[in-house]
Amino acid sequence: MTSSLFARHALIDGVWQNNVRLHWNAEGDFTQIQLQAQPEANEASATYVMPGMTNLHSHAFQRAMAGATEIAGEGPDSFWTWRDLMYRYALAISPEQMAAIAAQLYVECLRHGYTSVCEFHYVHRAPEGVFYSDIAETSRQVIAAANRTGMGISMLPVLYSYADFNATPLRDDQRRFNTDVEQILSIMAALENERTAQVEVGVAPHSLRAASPEQIRELVATMPTQRPIHIHIAEQMREVNACLAATGQRPVELLMNTQQVDARWCLVHATHLSTQEVQQMAASQSVAGICTSTEGNLGDGFFELPAYIAAGGRFGVGTDSHVSQSVVEEVRWLEYGQRLRGQARNVASRPGQRRVADYLWQQCLRGGAQASGRRVGQFAVNYRADMVVLDDQHPNLCDLPAEQVLSNVVFAGNEQTVRDVYVGGKQVVAQGRHHDQEKVAADYRHCMQQLRQL
Ligand SMILES: [Zn+2]
Repeated sequence: MTSSLFARHALIDGVWQNNVRLHWNAEGDFTQIQLQAQPEANEASATYVMPGMTNLHSHAFQRAMAGATEIAGEGPDSFWTWRDLMYRYALAISPEQMAAIAAQLYVECLRHGYTSVCEFHYVHRAPEGVFYSDIAETSRQVIAAANRTGMGISMLPVLYSYADFNATPLRDDQRRFNTDVEQILSIMAALENERTAQVEVGVAPHSLRAASPEQIRELVATMPTQRPIHIHIAEQMREVNACLAATGQRPVELLMNTQQVDARWCLVHATHLSTQEVQQMAASQSVAGICTSTEGNLGDGFFELPAYIAAGGRFGVGTDSHVSQSVVEEVRWLEYGQRLRGQARNVASRPGQRRVADYLWQQCLRGGAQASGRRVGQFAVNYRADMVVLDDQHPNLCDLPAEQVLSNVVFAGNEQTVRDVYVGGKQVVAQGRHHDQEKVAADYRHCMQQLRQL
């Protein structure tokens, strides 16, 4: 069985092409991208159609605490005081609650045009610190939430062995995260039967604080090849200074000197970079995972975007702690942060693409897709039929020439302009509504009645 959609304008390799017919098969893969097609009577059609975006960094359970940490404490607040509350949630949450929260999050993300997610998943053990009878129990619950909602997922079980550099033992409140290399490989093996066209399984050494260079080398050498590898790298200056004190090297420098970093890697929160690290990262062909709404919320700092773009670096966006579920907000603030920082306008562009929104969108499609390790993010044969249809009747978009559409989507207003969303050829959002959103929200409310008492 083949299905198709006729697009009056389709975003292909960053360029809006007119009159494109997209064909896909029963497995949800594109079989033909027909350019300069003629519309036929009674066929499904849309005006503006874009590939779905990858959300390259998510800790799904943190959706439950969005908004809960915005009250000033006695002393200066920081990432580290935020982390204390996050640990309280992480210690209390059940696998079923993880699934309910993840489903709510994924519905929200799908409605905003994300069609796949990289789940940096680190709560593996039961609250008392032992593994569930299935070592992959919590990972499986989150994958089930993705399958329930239609979200494509790259599940990344997190290697988390230490509390800080120099193999500092974990604290008691980190007991649910505790994993070694062998256990991560066991989780990956247990998840092998979850892998489908919609589900990939990779790994994530949590950070250079929580996993040693030797462990990371062993994990990467032993795990199946061609799987995504994500790591938190340089989010906070305290982390950079601790790395320097422990090793004499900065985090990205240390990573580059101890691992074979290549296109499988995604370096999340590469916020604090030296000039040399910018060049090293760009040359490695890894993806920088930038999470502007969370990085803003946590006071992390600014990514070195202009220098990184100039060096040809790859990047994508993620919603991380889920203070926002909007890809528009991530992309908009990626640019606005640089404008505020440099007192300049239209920072993120290249000679071949002067339109900032178009440039950023295309980079994030490509970077996110690479980070996911899945065949997504472009309209091409054998790629997943993940399509986002914009609302051509929205006041910001109606009768707009295609080349101006993304500028309006990203930089005009805060209303939702995504109308329909297809994942693997299946429509999951129609007229802005996800097919299961009421039931998913009811489950989420039930879960939050319990968690809000924390
Ligand atoms: Zn993170």
